[in-house]
Amino acid sequence: MFGPRVIQVEPLVSARGVRGPFDYARPEGCDVGAVVDVPFGRQRLRGVVTGLAEDSAHRLKAPTAVSDVSLPPQLVRLALWMADDIVSTRARCLELLLPPEGVGERTRFWAEPVVPDAPADPADPWAGVRLNPNQRALLDRLPGWTGDDLPALRRLEARGLVTVEARAHGRRPDHASVGALHGDGRTAPLLNPDQALAVERIAGVLADPDLPIRERRLLLHGVTGSGKTEVYLQAAERVVAAGRTVLVLVPEIALTPQTVQRFRRRLGETVAVLHSGLSKGERRDEWWRLRSGEARVCVGPMSTVFAPVSDLGLVIVDEEHDPAYKHDGDPRYDARRVAAWRAGDAGAVLLAGSATPRPESWASLRRIGLPRRADGGEMPHVRLIDVRATRGALHPDVHRAIADARKAIVLLNRRGWATWMECADCGHTWECPNCDVSLVLHGGRSERTGRTSGVLRCHHCGHQERPPERCVSCSSVSVGQHGLGTEQLAEDLPGHVYRLDADVRDRSSVLEAFGAADHGILVGTQMIAKGHDFPGVELGVVVDADATLRFPDFRSQERTFQLVAQLAGRAGRGGGTDAPARVLVQTRSPDDPSLRFAARHDAHGFVVEEIERRRIHGYPPFSTIVRVVCEHEDERRVQAAADDLVLRMPPETMGPVPLFRRQARYRRQLLVKAVSRAATVAAVRDAVAAVVDDNAHRGVVLAIEVDPR
Ligand code: ADP
Ligand code: ZN
Ligand code: ZN
Repeated sequence: MFGPRVIQVEPLVSARGVRGPFDYARPEGCDVGAVVDVPFGRQRLRGVVTGLAEDSAHRLKAPTAVSDVSLPPQLVRLALWMADDIVSTRARCLELLLPPEGVGERTRFWAEPVVPDAPADPADPWAGVRLNPNQRALLDRLPGWTGDDLPALRRLEARGLVTVEARAHGRRPDHASVGALHGDGRTAPLLNPDQALAVERIAGVLADPDLPIRERRLLLHGVTGSGKTEVYLQAAERVVAAGRTVLVLVPEIALTPQTVQRFRRRLGETVAVLHSGLSKGERRDEWWRLRSGEARVCVGPMSTVFAPVSDLGLVIVDEEHDPAYKHDGDPRYDARRVAAWRAGDAGAVLLAGSATPRPESWASLRRIGLPRRADGGEMPHVRLIDVRATRGALHPDVHRAIADARKAIVLLNRRGWATWMECADCGHTWECPNCDVSLVLHGGRSERTGRTSGVLRCHHCGHQERPPERCVSCSSVSVGQHGLGTEQLAEDLPGHVYRLDADVRDRSSVLEAFGAADHGILVGTQMIAKGHDFPGVELGVVVDADATLRFPDFRSQERTFQLVAQLAGRAGRGGGTDAPARVLVQTRSPDDPSLRFAARHDAHGFVVEEIERRRIHGYPPFSTIVRVVCEHEDERRVQAAADDLVLRMPPETMGPVPLFRRQARYRRQLLVKAVSRAATVAAVRDAVAAVVDDNAHRGVVLAIEVDPR
């Protein structure tokens, strides 16, 4: 064999302690990106080839199998970069790139009957054949695809009564169900002058391969309803026409069915969709369509950034401000950062879009503006309502406005019925036995009925218990429900109410129903403010704008601004109303700058002031924050690991400080804020590796998050 004789294999194991790659003998044609099974100690492990080497001094073992799945080499590069960038492991990052396992290949079995040559009874070819009723029924439904009945059919096949053959059968997800679209959507509408200019500028960047990476990163800053999707579509069409591929990231698929629909209608079969709502088989097949080049556009949530396309030309990040792009689990990647890296690596263009861009994006991307609504409609009128003297959840003006509106959206960022319960006599509160947090009452009933029903639930570990009849501490029967949640608000509002929050299963159906309805109120958490395009919403209400404002985090201003501006963005679309739409924002801080900027629809003013504030305080993008959380059931052990870790961390490290106990695990947090990202990340990586390798701290879990949200 010619060429390198060694493959470097990263085994796919989750332990931080196993750090590859390890050398194996190279089978013919086995290249970077190949997925292999290798002997590893006494085990056999799945792994990915991350590099090749000329020769080795050792006698090497060979892989026991080479899979027909392989990753494009650029994705391998991506995983290796990402593991370093976010202090994760290579294995965990590689795992994100592979198609789901445990489903069959891209084939199913097709069965056909073999009719006997000379049947005893011409009317019934099976008349003389020994068959039980099940077998008979099986034969009668053929020809057809096999399912659970494959083993039974195989037995009939052995008797020569049927043929069973493997056939390609793509499992195409049914996209008809993901929401309706106004108009037919197959043909491009005439762009307005702002849109046309935006498309032209993007096309100019696409057409100029000599531009440096920095200048290939664009921010489409378009007010809500300015028609950003149409700009994305036309940019994507050009890229596909030029033979390259496109990734389109949306915050959450169930909440953005319209965007997906628009892409499918316009670009057709070349669009693949990857998301967790698909079956494993569907995901695997979509993965293959992308890998083989049959599909050239992939639309979906953040994991779409890992789609196995080659010849990448454009990466679109819709609603780029959305915190959903930050992955909560492990590895804690930020899809926007990965998107920018991947675009840069491929020489592609990054196009992030938002009405309320992040200060980070404002500062680093080239801006293209869409200053007006596409339908020519006015921006809604936003009023801040001081509720410091208001009794009850809603100000009388808000009550009246809701009663008068044909269609309204009401935002309350707390799900459940009541967010905590407290004894009126002794002050006892009901907390989760595993986590140091209050239990939330779900499925409660109005206090008017005098009885508490439903269930107390922990939002962190899923613990459930029955709500109390009386106080466990003093036996008082006056147990109060506090903290209005979406369930209770939905019941208290007049008229037809649609509720949308994380407890609602079929979110896209709720959205669709509200969109199609002639009148009604959509009540829910922040997810109701995301990118939806419903015509005829006359009123938006923010019940408690202070909920995000009070949050002790340097992003609380940004979040509050975004929430109010995005909610306002849902109102007054599609015309059809005489007066401009209204938005009422209840707050106890009516002078807060983020609310004032939002009320004026002044994203520019907000972001400029916010960037200045961050500069003064040294917050991102003027620094990088890295957070390390240590976790263990035993409090002393977690403290010992955290104490040891802090000694190895950069000198600016703050902590360890206790976080609230979660899922019966004690937690300690360390935080570094530093100017040099690369140096800080590298220092944290070394510190973490030292603690992971120290036997004294075995079993303590370390979660590292760079740029925590
Ligand atoms: P954004 O994402 O900027 O909030 P959308 O892409 O949802 O805005 O577009 C808002 C509405 O305007 C949609 O109903 C869309 O169909 C419509 N629209 C977009 N571009 C045009 C256009 N050039 N002419 C007419 N309507 C348009
Ligand atoms: Zn009590
Ligand atoms: Zn809990």
